Amino acid sequence: MTAGATVTGARLLEGAPIATEIRAGVAADVAAYVAANGRPPGLAVVICGRDAPSMVYLDRILKACESVGIATQLVDIPGDVPAAQARELGAAIRRLNADPAIAGIIVQMPLPAGVPLRAVVDAIDPVKDIDGLHPLNAGLLRLGYEGFVPATAHAAMEMLGRSGVQIEGADAVVIGRSPVVGMPVAFMLTRANATVTVCHSKTRDLAAKTRNADIVVVAVGRPGLVIGDMLKPGAVVIDVGINLVDGHLVGDVDFASARDVASAITPVPGGIGPLTNALLLAHLVRAAQRQATTSGSAS
Ligand code: NAP
Repeated sequence: MTAGATVTGARLLEGAPIATEIRAGVAADVAAYVAANGRPPGLAVVICGRDAPSMVYLDRILKACESVGIATQLVDIPGDVPAAQARELGAAIRRLNADPAIAGIIVQMPLPAGVPLRAVVDAIDPVKDIDGLHPLNAGLLRLGYEGFVPATAHAAMEMLGRSGVQIEGADAVVIGRSPVVGMPVAFMLTRANATVTVCHSKTRDLAAKTRNADIVVVAVGRPGLVIGDMLKPGAVVIDVGINLVDGHLVGDVDFASARDVASAITPVPGGIGPLTNALLLAHLVRAAQRQATTSGSAS
């Protein structure tokens, strides 16, 4: 399926080189934005609960923003009573919607147990929804129109596209059906003319599905869920999972066994993560540019 298979194992689909290229473009766009508007575009990151892998991800986003000149605002929602947290989360997002210095808002996922995604979805302004959660953006994606798509799903597609993987006509299996990763990837793969099977926690005989797939995208959050024996020889594997195991980040795919069967595979860390991060910055700048154009000024 790709030109990258070698006798020593699958071709590594690394995110860093693509991310570096994207960030360079973002830095240039930020400089132009600052020159035109007299201030940097602003990203608000809202944290509600402290999931360890997502805190790692958050730290990297903040550093990446700093490196390209994007201003950041961190909003921490304290407490441990879900109903109160959901209310505060909604209120914080509405405040950020009204803040002209903030062009985009992201909320760290997963939310704590009992805090519904709806608390974010109901509150966030679609023009600042750079991670594509609002129903307007989700609907635009579903209909194939331009909007903000979730950055991780975008990263999975960008990785396939930039690595020369043939999507059209391919049989693809997406494991995970969350609104932030699995389903958007499935919609985008379908749009790119793959034939897509979406698997989830109630899927029977997962291996029978994955063994037929030219492309496997795994977005679950379970280390070792997919092993080499579950893959078709030559498959392309996109591992979106991030898990902290004994202090180390690992994906959902057992890398050692999978790389002997696949033709190409994303490492964890170093695959989809860096690309997601860079694309989020690109989404932020796009949001800032649109808002500046719409308002006719920086505010
Ligand atoms: P999520 O909302 O918890 O969704 C997990 C999905 O996996 C659900 O659809 C669930 O099925 C399915 N699932 C659970 N157990 C399964 C099993 N045994 N077999 C098959 N499917 C199973 O998680 P998410 O937010 O989509 O994130 C998924 C992973 O991606 C996590 O590890 C997260 O940390 C990572 N992530 C990475 C990035 C990045 O930039 N690299 C960004 C975001 C998330 P049901 O629908 O039936 O419950």
